[in-house]
Amino acid sequence: VLRKFTTKLNEKNLKTEEVIGEGEFGVVSKGYLEIDGKERTVAVKNLRSGLSAKLRRDFLAEASVMGQFKDPNVISLHGVIVKRHTVKIVMEFMSNGSMDQYLLKNNGKLTILQLLGMARGIASGMNYLSGRNFIHRDLAARNILVDENLSCKVSDFGLTREICQTSNYETSGGKIPIRWTAPEVIKYKKSFISSDVWSYGVVLWEIMSFGQRPYWEWDNFRVLQEIEIGYRLPAPLKCPKTVHSLMLHCWEKARSDRPTFLHILDKLDEWIRSPETIHHS
Ligand code: ATP
Repeated sequence: VLRKFTTKLNEKNLKTEEVIGEGEFGVVSKGYLEIDGKERTVAVKNLRSGLSAKLRRDFLAEASVMGQFKDPNVISLHGVIVKRHTVKIVMEFMSNGSMDQYLLKNNGKLTILQLLGMARGIASGMNYLSGRNFIHRDLAARNILVDENLSCKVSDFGLTREICQTSNYETSGGKIPIRWTAPEVIKYKKSFISSDVWSYGVVLWEIMSFGQRPYWEWDNFRVLQEIEIGYRLPAPLKCPKTVHSLMLHCWEKARSDRPTFLHILDKLDEWIRSPETIHHS
């Protein structure tokens, strides 16, 4: 599964330090990687031992997808270390961790313009991915990482798929993050770039509400039912009306009525450049 653009790193150039997180495949540690004589801070995903061959393949497939991307708003891969019993993925380090946790910790402490700046970064990263015909399929605040400048990057490519031009990807079961997923994906098991746009609307809601859980404590069944009869998440506290309108636009039932990532990016740029165009009520 490792394609030619996945750099193999030499383990002796890597020093790992404390554990900073834990994911599906194992722990994530902070580390330092020497590249061309310079030391860089990195994050290292370690594959837990004793996992099946399939999970090991999935883990490397994610690195292989990540290795193809080069964009300021998409997490970049430094390379992988593959030995008989260990596999490590080395990527850029994001000091503020995952966005959902970051927002909860900073509840009420960020300005509308800072929040829109974060949303802009994600739209730009998604515009890059969609331009390369990749569907992310798991876009959510928990899968966005934040660096020390509040710059946001799209990460977690475990469900990401490459599609042919204007085509779609047929899912074959597996876990679906219901609250973030467009109705057509759940109903017809088909994902499109416009289904990522639906999820982006939910991420925008998570940002403007400082990391609240979409649809609160409702169970998945209720979420599906309410969406089907036309319910949509309300504007979070202090969220400008124009920003909520953009969310509603992402949640159009008909895929073709939703905006493109380029359109979303243009809107956010306009609001950030001219805040007087943001309507509050
Ligand atoms: P989940 O997304 O549910 O946490 P996962 O398997 O996708 O599970 P990862 O995204 O691999 O988990 O990472 C787990 C945690 O490690 C993240 O939530 C984040 O706090 C931290 N982390 C992951 N990658 C980085 C990174 N590049 N820089 C800094 N922290 C990171």
